[in-house]
Amino acid sequence: MRNLHVISHTHWDREWYRPFQLFRLKLVHLVDGMLDILEKDPGFKYFMLDGQTIVLDDYLTMRPEKEDILREHIRKGRIIIGPWHILPDMFLVGPEAHIRNLQQGDRTARKFGPKMMIGYMPDSFGHIGQIPQILRGFGIEVASLWRGVYDGSAEFWWQAPDGSRVLMAYLRDGYGNGADLPADNLERFASMIAEKGDTLAAASATSDLLIMYGTDHMEPPRNTSEAIAYADEMLRNTHVIHSTLPQYVAAIQASIKKQKVELPTIVGELRACKRMHLLPGVLSTRMWIKQRNHACETLLGKWVEPFSTFASLVTANDRPQTMINSPSSIVRQAWRLLMENHPHDSICGCSIDQVHEEMKVRFDQVEQIGEEITKQGLESLAACVTTDRGPLTTDHLPSTVHDQSAIVIFNPSSRRHRTPPQRPRIRTGGREWHLPPLSGAWTGKPRNHQYNSRRQGVAVRVREHKRWPRRRDDRPGYQSTPRWRGGVHRNHHGGWRRTQPHCVERQAQRN
Ligand SMILES: [Zn+2]
Repeated sequence: MRNLHVISHTHWDREWYRPFQLFRLKLVHLVDGMLDILEKDPGFKYFMLDGQTIVLDDYLTMRPEKEDILREHIRKGRIIIGPWHILPDMFLVGPEAHIRNLQQGDRTARKFGPKMMIGYMPDSFGHIGQIPQILRGFGIEVASLWRGVYDGSAEFWWQAPDGSRVLMAYLRDGYGNGADLPADNLERFASMIAEKGDTLAAASATSDLLIMYGTDHMEPPRNTSEAIAYADEMLRNTHVIHSTLPQYVAAIQASIKKQKVELPTIVGELRACKRMHLLPGVLSTRMWIKQRNHACETLLGKWVEPFSTFASLVTANDRPQTMINSPSSIVRQAWRLLMENHPHDSICGCSIDQVHEEMKVRFDQVEQIGEEITKQGLESLAACVTTDRGPLTTDHLPSTVHDQSAIVIFNPSSRRHRTPPQRPRIRTGGREWHLPPLSGAWTGKPRNHQYNSRRQGVAVRVREHKRWPRRRDDRPGYQSTPRWRGGVHRNHHGGWRRTQPHCVERQAQRN
């Protein structure tokens, strides 16, 4: 006896061969229809919303009155959501973006109901090796994906370089292997689903098989439940079940345990293209997108977050609430904007021109928020520096940095540094200046040409830190954390937690 798990779902590319707003109108049509089916047909048990919670936000922006009914179905387990916020390209965004993606997915899911604890990545163009590690950091022990696997069983272990591993529910025949099943032709539906089961059975370690009844932007057929019931009755030695991905995973886990099945293990990244192409040309398509994304991720991860966190610490007792002492929700919004550019068809540059024009505006907005928050944070920190040491020295300073100014240089790198750049640049008065060599000044003690005012601080960001020597144990830097380390641990002290030497994280960024 074998079990065919039929999963009703859609794969939702937010923007691709149509711009976002046009696809969203299709989404409204799809969700309206799906809610109607759920209401009228109790035999239509489940619908999976593609593993990404942003579709809930997209839909509810247009249909805010449907929030309660959506929440009700999600809480009953009839609509399956999460765990991601969006479905990104795995290679073209930075590691921190994957963490934020899962964090935001969790945040949204908590407003509605349980999230699916399966790393569902149906369409990404290959996968980085650390995904099992990241998923485990969020308590997720199963992955499900399509592209990048060379061949083999529908079930295997996928292991990250650090040894973390997840059970793989491999979408061997794709996330739409059942999409062409004709629900309005019962006999044909039954014969076709039996053939699909035969194909999968040859490469499965268990007798539970996955029929993904949906594909790109596909709406659920109205007579799905009737077709499933008919096939279940007609096919011999076969159960046809309207199921969910978690139910399928629970079934294969039980079989594996009961039959003591030894599954193979695949270690590291998944970039094989034997069974499905990887579209590697997208790695360099519209290169400006990759460059701007990298700049924005660097801005948020290396400037906005650490320095706004430090600034919020020193102003924690200030009232009223300001951007400086309460930056978290603002920073989170910047990340959300940036992540809207991370879906695989967006950041890969493989959409129509209009899509990428709209991405420019999102990048612009991320930079606007990020630069302003950084500027205010740096100014706030600079204002805390004691500037009453020694006589004023202005010999080397540009004229716009008058003798009542203090210059504070921030080390934005994740390491300590012994020597600053030979001629660091500063930006002030709308211009960029070269400071004189500061050799010997970075001892942790103030120098005249670093501090020369009692009243005013000028925040300066050193732009060329990558030329600094990679030496440890001298100039304190801040450490950017691999945040999946202890990513689900809640214990912290006074809103802070230390994860490594020279490493701090703000709890507020994690909730
Ligand atoms: Zn897609």
